[in-house]
Amino acid sequence: MAGRSLFWFRRDLRLADNPALLDAISAADETLLLFIIDQSVADRAGEYRRAYLADSLAKLDEAVGGRLAVMTGPPAAVLRDVAGTYHITSIHAAREFAPYGVQAEADINDAGIEIEYTGSIYAIAPGRVQKPDRSNYRVYSPFFKARRSHGWRAPFATPVSPRFIQPSRADRQFPTWSSPAKVLLQEAGEVAALDRWRAFMGGGLSSYDEFRNIPGVDGTSRLSPHLRWGEIHPRTILAGLNQTTAHEIFRKEIAWREFYADVLYHNPLTSRQYYDPAFAAMRYDTPGQKFELWCSGNTGFPIVDAAMRQLRLEGWMHNRTRMVVASFLVKDLHIEWQYGAAFFMKYLVDNDVASNSHGWQWTAGCGTDASPYYRVFNPIEQGRRFDPEGNYIRRYIPELRHLSSKDIHTPWEVLDGYSHGYPERIVDHAAERLESLKRLEEIRVAKEPHPLRHV
Ligand SMILES: Cc1cc2nc3c(=O)[nH]c(=O)nc-3n(C[C@H](O)[C@H](O)[C@H](O)COP(=O)(O)OP(=O)(O)OC[C@H]3O[C@@H](n4cnc5c(N)ncnc54)[C@H](O)[C@@H]3O)c2cc1C
Repeated sequence: MAGRSLFWFRRDLRLADNPALLDAISAADETLLLFIIDQSVADRAGEYRRAYLADSLAKLDEAVGGRLAVMTGPPAAVLRDVAGTYHITSIHAAREFAPYGVQAEADINDAGIEIEYTGSIYAIAPGRVQKPDRSNYRVYSPFFKARRSHGWRAPFATPVSPRFIQPSRADRQFPTWSSPAKVLLQEAGEVAALDRWRAFMGGGLSSYDEFRNIPGVDGTSRLSPHLRWGEIHPRTILAGLNQTTAHEIFRKEIAWREFYADVLYHNPLTSRQYYDPAFAAMRYDTPGQKFELWCSGNTGFPIVDAAMRQLRLEGWMHNRTRMVVASFLVKDLHIEWQYGAAFFMKYLVDNDVASNSHGWQWTAGCGTDASPYYRVFNPIEQGRRFDPEGNYIRRYIPELRHLSSKDIHTPWEVLDGYSHGYPERIVDHAAERLESLKRLEEIRVAKEPHPLRHV
């Protein structure tokens, strides 16, 4: 072993359970650690995502004793320059499977730069779990079963006494992005991720089956931002699970993330296009004032507004309410899912193109395993059922805090419902539901299922 290796951090901002990093370290005497900021991506990312990334990079740098290089530019160009400057003998990284990452790898390949790829941000990389006829799965349940038979590796060790190269000051261009005032973003970094995972294992995980749908309680792991940036690997999480019902349901959620990654990998255009193209022909409304009111959490429907305000305040939203607000946008306001997905991508710190686009398409009724389009979420019933005490609504909507648990879901039915400035409903849900079904009828999706729907 001799020479100097380079490890390119991508969506894997951690030291533990990182086989590509271990390969980089074992390939040479010393290793340069590099993160590349691609300005074209940074410009598209919202302030929240940028702030979270800046925090995560600072934490990673702290963990490696101030030896992280951060440079800005197109990945292929930066890798070429850095490899020359530091006399690098081999470059190592984990693979990516979403469209941006795949394109970056193609550009690097075209530029004649060789990279040794090891692992990915998934327990099982997209493309690995296949049907017996070697095609890819289009339905989740058989994918989950096949995935279980395929199996995944145990977590990898943390490097012991690695030798990291000290980059020059000029090559440590850390971003200074911070979150807007009053926004409460989750703490980033590997230590925060592992702490959260341990706390969840010792707490909410055993009752995950019971509370995961209740947005007013802290019943889910909130690991999504950490998984998004690879501050913890799903292998580490899966290795801590047992066979109880709660653990099994949690294991299934981790698998949803990998299912959507697999679906997007095989259908890269579905990050923006309809998975079931029949829905592209539906009549939709142009986003205008109602869309703005949805974005700002002022639709007059308490559970919808609480969720949108949570997103604006924390850069995160509970899964149950992601479904509620998505359904409301598509089926009550008749706006195409892509507008909502783009808004989510701007504000979510766990923004993941596969889970986001396919979470939206699932709710909109045009995705894989889609809940049928005609099943329209009733925002009032969703509130009553999943926030029965109104705790979630009360937390994010001060104008409704004075109302009882019963009245908080229907402020229009009580005399003082609007006394603290809460807005009136922008639509009549019952009427919009019928309108939605009428538009569905026009494209006759119900009568002509798309062939992609079959397992
Ligand atoms: C419209 C819509 C948009 C979404 N956008 C995103 C997104 O951009 N990024 C993202 O990570 N998730 C997205 N999800 C999935 C899900 O809402 C979040 O992963 C979850 O709320 C994160 O919170 P948690 O970590 O506490 O989840 P937990 O309930 O603790 O689940 C653990 C992990 O399993 C995975 N997971 C759970 N549910 C899902 C799911 N339905 N689909 C895919 N993976 C899942 C996540 O990685 C999550 O961190 C979206 C869902 C919908 C309906």
